[in-house]
Amino acid sequence: MPVLRSSDRKTNIQPPANFVGTVFSDEIVAGKSPSRMRASVVSFTPGGRTNWHTHPVGQTLYCLSGAGRIQFEGEQVQEIRAGDTVIIPPNTRHWHGAAPDKLFSHLAMSEQTDKGEGTAWFEQVSDKDYVAETAPIT
Ligand code: MN
Repeated sequence: MPVLRSSDRKTNIQPPANFVGTVFSDEIVAGKSPSRMRASVVSFTPGGRTNWHTHPVGQTLYCLSGAGRIQFEGEQVQEIRAGDTVIIPPNTRHWHGAAPDKLFSHLAMSEQTDKGEGTAWFEQVSDKDYVAETAPIT
């Protein structure tokens, strides 16, 4: 099996059309059929976050470092930290990103549909939504 060398794969800057702030992505794997596995490490600078979006077959996030935020539409913003796993159901509007004053990185794992459909992107997360008080950690 091939070994993909880190030195051969540059860090990408995420497109401003779908993200607020500076967000980096290091692809880990983009599986070839029959695999549909996709994984990348996404690193958000303080204040950086995704736009609202959905995943057709869901997404799993594993928090690697720093302090982050996730919000499912209609719910309170939740703080997430290293070691936390977030299970995002299919076709559920949400966003994720860094805390306002901390770096944050997560491993993002998802699969495309049989038709190759991936993430559906929507509008930016407003500053008001972004800085809303986070839910108590239970
Ligand atoms: Mn997501």
